[in-house]
Amino acid sequence: MDLPVVNHEDYFAKIGDDHKFPIKKFGELANYLKKNEIVKKFHKPYACSFETLSHAHSKNYISKIKNKTLSKEGIKKIGFPLVDSVVQRSLVATGGTVLASKLAINYGISCNTAGGSHHANYDGGAGYCVFNDVAVAAHYLINRGLANKILIVDLDVHQGNGNSEIFKDNRSVFTFSMHSKTNYPVKKSNSDLDVELEDNLEDNAYIKTLKYYLSELNKENFDFVFYIAGVDIHFNDRLGKLKISDEGIRLRDELVVENFFSQRIPFCGVLGGGYNKDFNKLVELHSILHQSCAKYIGS
Ligand SMILES: [Zn+2]
Repeated sequence: MDLPVVNHEDYFAKIGDDHKFPIKKFGELANYLKKNEIVKKFHKPYACSFETLSHAHSKNYISKIKNKTLSKEGIKKIGFPLVDSVVQRSLVATGGTVLASKLAINYGISCNTAGGSHHANYDGGAGYCVFNDVAVAAHYLINRGLANKILIVDLDVHQGNGNSEIFKDNRSVFTFSMHSKTNYPVKKSNSDLDVELEDNLEDNAYIKTLKYYLSELNKENFDFVFYIAGVDIHFNDRLGKLKISDEGIRLRDELVVENFFSQRIPFCGVLGGGYNKDFNKLVELHSILHQSCAKYIGS
């Protein structure tokens, strides 16, 4: 069976060619996955509905995004201009993770080619995150009785503070974030499990730490896993502070996928951050998530 992967051409938003955020990566990643026959045909999502969004975000905030009436400070915190294509992108990327989560229930494993907007909070966005797609999808699954105990494995180099805030009093969702101690956000929130990594950490120590915490998490009975596979842990990333190699990222993704897939826990992988100095390398690094999932689906 082929790995179900969700993609939409609107993941690419018009934010200007000189913008610091490498928005072109979404289109290039889709091309790369097709060219290398990792994906034959993408599943196409709908824009996430207001109702589905409203379980993770305030109605006031959703309206301000949809109507483009968010304050200047609110827009600045997000880091994208609030234009039509950014609104559309935020809605389809969130709808994409919701669709991917349903595909994971049906097929055991799935991926989005965007998602992992983990800094977005109940009442506002931040750090290139408008809507928190994983939080929206987690609520969606719980509300429909498709999952009861969800684990979010967040291995982006930045802390998943949006998820830890949104789910801080929610016993149905466990947040695990392993991130750079000294990186954004300056003020960290409390996940159910936070692992802070020192600057310049290399592959061996990283993988050893991850293995230990995965074995701890295996003691719980989760019935769904979201994986935020940020590649900003790479040594050549503009925003990361770790020194993880290409091979280290491959080992990480295969370890995570294998750990949950071998337990037959529905698994949904989303992109997370990546700001590599080398654009082609960035696309290749993001594709490791999809390659790792594709490797296991036939097994
Ligand atoms: Zn990040």
